[in-house]
Amino acid sequence: MSNKGITPRNEDYSQWYLDIIDRAELAENSPVRGAMVIKPYGYAIWEKIKEQLDQRIKDRGCKNAYFPLFIPKSFLSKEADHVKGFAKECAIVTHYRLKEKEDGTGVEVDPEAKLDEELIVRPTSETIMYDTFSRWITSWRDLPLKINQWVNIVRWERRTRPFLRTSEFLWQEGHTVHETEEQSLEEVLGALEMYRKFAREVLALETLTGIKSESEKFAGANDTYGVEAMMQDGKSLQFGTSHDLGQNFARVFNIQFTNKDGKLEYPWQTSWGVSTRMIGAVVMSHSDDKGLVLPPKIAPIKVVIIPIYSDNDKDKILEYSKGVYNSVKEITEDIEFDDRDYVTAGYKFNEWEKKGVPIRIEIGPRDLENNQCVIVRRDILEKNELPVSNVQEYVENLLDEIQKNILKRSEELLVSNTYSVDSYEEFKDIISARRGFVHAYWCGNPDCEEGIKVDTKATTRCQTEEGRKNTGPCIYCGEHGEEWVFGISY
Ligand SMILES: [Zn+2]
Repeated sequence: MSNKGITPRNEDYSQWYLDIIDRAELAENSPVRGAMVIKPYGYAIWEKIKEQLDQRIKDRGCKNAYFPLFIPKSFLSKEADHVKGFAKECAIVTHYRLKEKEDGTGVEVDPEAKLDEELIVRPTSETIMYDTFSRWITSWRDLPLKINQWVNIVRWERRTRPFLRTSEFLWQEGHTVHETEEQSLEEVLGALEMYRKFAREVLALETLTGIKSESEKFAGANDTYGVEAMMQDGKSLQFGTSHDLGQNFARVFNIQFTNKDGKLEYPWQTSWGVSTRMIGAVVMSHSDDKGLVLPPKIAPIKVVIIPIYSDNDKDKILEYSKGVYNSVKEITEDIEFDDRDYVTAGYKFNEWEKKGVPIRIEIGPRDLENNQCVIVRRDILEKNELPVSNVQEYVENLLDEIQKNILKRSEELLVSNTYSVDSYEEFKDIISARRGFVHAYWCGNPDCEEGIKVDTKATTRCQTEEGRKNTGPCIYCGEHGEEWVFGISY
């Protein structure tokens, strides 16, 4: 455990983020540039997320499966936009063997072991899955087909940051195939809504959802919808997307089914995913200068019990604390008993604060005497004394209360960083001073979007459902526009 401090947010927000990742022991850099090692505590958070989201995905009628890591290069090239979108970040396998160098100084690629067809390490799995789907689907009876997988993917990034942007990351990708366009659009929006609710109810993150612009959409999709969260520095972070693929992939992979009238048709498809980026979003939006702050629902340790004793009262205090531990354990398995005797109580408080454990229970000689304990909640660092007979009920309510309070802060963060502007001058002022989600009219012309990006670094984040109904002059060119949300994104 590192005992180093944490850079305050207002001093250097980027360094603050990296410090939290390090001090909370979530992840570290690996010998491979851009690829991170997710440490046990960070991975335990991912497991909590995965377990709860997996249930929601299954509740939508999806089944989990596994498709290969390697994709034949020709597959990726079949959908023209798709390959264009991913070409610049592909890792390619060209050989399958090494051989010893003739001068005995090590090994080199064996030129004779060249693959007939080069393989792409999956950047996403549409192509490899849909080639298979073309054999699984022959009739309307095979539809809808709803498949999900939890895997790693590789997108060769040059500028990386743990959890937010890494060359290899973990995610889930859902892929569905439908008889009608209407059904597939329902799925696209249904998955988006699943992510929005999951963010609120589990990650305690308030988000904005909406359709992406042409330039921001998924390569190969008709439309992409995104989930955008607001970070404490006013930047936005997209952590989930849901794509309307239309019949684009069905046509190139020749997925066809016989409809109820006996005619051959191309089906309609969707895909949607979220990744370990969610952990980055949680860290950046909830944490403070003392360390990580975790919503209880994804905290690997929800409660830590710290007995504070000296040689004289050690046995009595440990026994009493164990009683409290057993009582709290009845309401949660995610509990830690920290009776290490080689570090001080102060060191322990500091360590668990950095790791974002929602509730800390301290038990010392005075507590033993008064039949009480001290409870500290991590979100607002408030301390309370409590009769030990109430501890179980109190902890149960407090976990709920903390979850709600963190969500409330996230809602406030989003609201207080949301602006509406009518002029480009106002737009530039707000973006440069405060960033945030800026609602403004845009005509839909990619040249205006690009111009705004060059001037201010702000991009369109999404258009909400209400935004589509609000119209006014484009802030860049003055032509007729609709309301979009702009922001500077991670
Ligand atoms: Zn314009």
